[in-house]
Amino acid sequence: MKKRDKAQKIAAILDDLFPMPDIPLDHRDPFTLLIAVVLSAQTTDARVNMVTPGLFALASTPEAMARLSVDQILNEIRTCGLAPGKAKNIKRLSELLVETHGGRVPAEMEALEALPGVGHKTASVVMAQAFGVPAFPVDTHIHRLAARWMLSNGKSVEQTERDLKQLFPEATWGKVHLQIIYFGRKYCPALRHDEGQCPICSWAGRGDRRGAKGDARAAAGGRRATVVRQRRPAETRSRE
Ligand code: SF4
Repeated sequence: MKKRDKAQKIAAILDDLFPMPDIPLDHRDPFTLLIAVVLSAQTTDARVNMVTPGLFALASTPEAMARLSVDQILNEIRTCGLAPGKAKNIKRLSELLVETHGGRVPAEMEALEALPGVGHKTASVVMAQAFGVPAFPVDTHIHRLAARWMLSNGKSVEQTERDLKQLFPEATWGKVHLQIIYFGRKYCPALRHDEGQCPICSWAGRGDRRGAKGDARAAAGGRRATVVRQRRPAETRSRE
């Protein structure tokens, strides 16, 4: 089967399973989304959703966040992974938004990636979810599943992003990103399993048990993958 046909078939399955995937991190605007995505590196989405109400009660705009001390921010987010570094980044990026972007989150990849604590994937999530600009955020879990489904050669996250962007229609990138993450969370068990039961790997996978085991590890991570959501009960971890 050609890769493009395979992608089309996978998209149909994902649409059937997850017709309208929710955005997983609670937020109210581009700034609170940006902060939530920065917090979600190495931290579950549920954990982020637990700390952001307290943080945003103190400061929900770049101006207000920039006025907080690093310690005040750290105090609110200390249960997140890598909290000390994130507190410094959140303060500095808020200052930069005020100093150079008029207190607004820029809707440009390059400007977003120049902010402290904002990598390519975080910037892509913000572009897609806050501004509706076509972007395909690829984390390590999507990267591994794309390789497992032979949609990409798995050589690098950057290559996977390029490949997936070519295979899926631009208008669907943000949705497919979420759908693949939800697929991993729902279908990929943590232990070795029969890939014949997998709705996608049963026909699209590489067909080796070692791969299924490897993907099971990815899937365990997949349950921890970063995305942005409105509300979701299960705790999931993400990483940049
Ligand atoms: S871990 Fe299993 S269910 Fe998940 S993609 Fe791989 S084979 Fe399919």
